[in-house]
Amino acid sequence: MNSNEIDIHKELKKYFGFGQFKGLQEPVIKSILNKENTFVIMPTGGGKSLCYQLPALIQEGTAIVVSPLIALMKNQVDAIRSLSSENGIAHVLNSSLTKTEITQVKNDITAGITKLLYVAPESLTKDEYVQFLQSVKVSFVAIDEAHCISEWGHDFRPEYRNLRYIIKQLGDVPIIGLTATATPKVQEDILKNLDMSDATTYKASFNRPNLYYEVRTKTKNIESDIIRFIKQNKGKSGIIYCLSRKKVEAIAEVLQVNGISAVPYHAGLDAKTRAKHQDMFLMEDVEVVVATIAFGMGIDKPDVRFVIHHDIPKSLESYYQETGRAGRDGGEGHCLAYYSYKDVEKLEKFMSGKPVAEQEIGFALLQEVVAYAETSMSRRKFLLHYFGEEFDSETGEGADMDDNVRNPKNKVEAKNQVVK
Ligand code: ADP
Ligand code: MG
Repeated sequence: MNSNEIDIHKELKKYFGFGQFKGLQEPVIKSILNKENTFVIMPTGGGKSLCYQLPALIQEGTAIVVSPLIALMKNQVDAIRSLSSENGIAHVLNSSLTKTEITQVKNDITAGITKLLYVAPESLTKDEYVQFLQSVKVSFVAIDEAHCISEWGHDFRPEYRNLRYIIKQLGDVPIIGLTATATPKVQEDILKNLDMSDATTYKASFNRPNLYYEVRTKTKNIESDIIRFIKQNKGKSGIIYCLSRKKVEAIAEVLQVNGISAVPYHAGLDAKTRAKHQDMFLMEDVEVVVATIAFGMGIDKPDVRFVIHHDIPKSLESYYQETGRAGRDGGEGHCLAYYSYKDVEKLEKFMSGKPVAEQEIGFALLQEVVAYAETSMSRRKFLLHYFGEEFDSETGEGADMDDNVRNPKNKVEAKNQVVK
């Protein structure tokens, strides 16, 4: 099937009920339908899943989707099944299936019913599955969260490194890689490891013009500073990120004592409490959630008005992801980070227990955070440059939305600067 012969707008409406494609979805989908290797870089929430789901649904054969998290795969399978009367339209293949279930999956694929087959990278290495997939028609292989292939990504998974080898055994099938990680280094790694330097790359802008970026020097008064900030933003929802669980608990308590409705969230709380606190935040029973980075994956609250970093993040990648949870609805989003070089040293100390290669990458990523915190240039320009994107700090969208641009004298000066 050729992309020119199908009305993909009609198919979009039919399957997903959407009237329009979002961002670069349309050219991406055409590229896949034309059997080209395709590389998609879009921020979180950009609509990457639909880029492979729609072509999978309207093509012959089964698309294999590699994804790192079982929970994510299950969500997508449920969502796809709800679009169809045919349960077998999407399946997950993993080690938790019974023999009977595996037979069912295989039968559905062979019968041409299954359009999307989600697999974890470690399942794909099983000879039994590879042999089976060699015997059926595979429309393409989509590799979601493709940054997992890179040590420079924020979530390196060694199993992703075997993917190219396995895909080659399936014959000449197009590959589509997708990620929200935009650093040039990670992109290079992905293309190299998947051996698809010929891929057409589609990269969306990472600029979030409605977010205001600010860095304040961290002092002893940080707690009263945060309380003042929240009181000035009364009635608005916000997230405060802290490095440690202990800090999360402490800050949540300080806020509560000062009359601010806040709950803690971290992996040390039991699942029930975590779910309760998350719901309280989503339902606006509380204004503020104080959290470790365990909070936020898949949280889709559109009107988060501020994200505060009590401690600096370990990379600009994480900073972008975490601040990106503000202003999803396009309204204001204030991103405030507190910075002191002592915190940098603390993070470095954390990392010193890790293997040398990992340490080196960790230090390099951290130095970029330091540079961001200490820069006197447009923070938006700095961030976007880090993601390989040129930004005109005079005329670009959101150009005046940071402390350095609005108040050029207000530089952050770190004590005891040691640049390694
Ligand atoms: P990503 O994987 O890039 O983070 P998702 O694939 O999870 O993003 O999509 C984010 C949201 O955008 C989902 O709620 C999805 O339903 C919605 N979405 C995707 N494409 C469209 C579209 N063409 N029109 C409207 N909403 C869309
Ligand atoms: Mg996604």
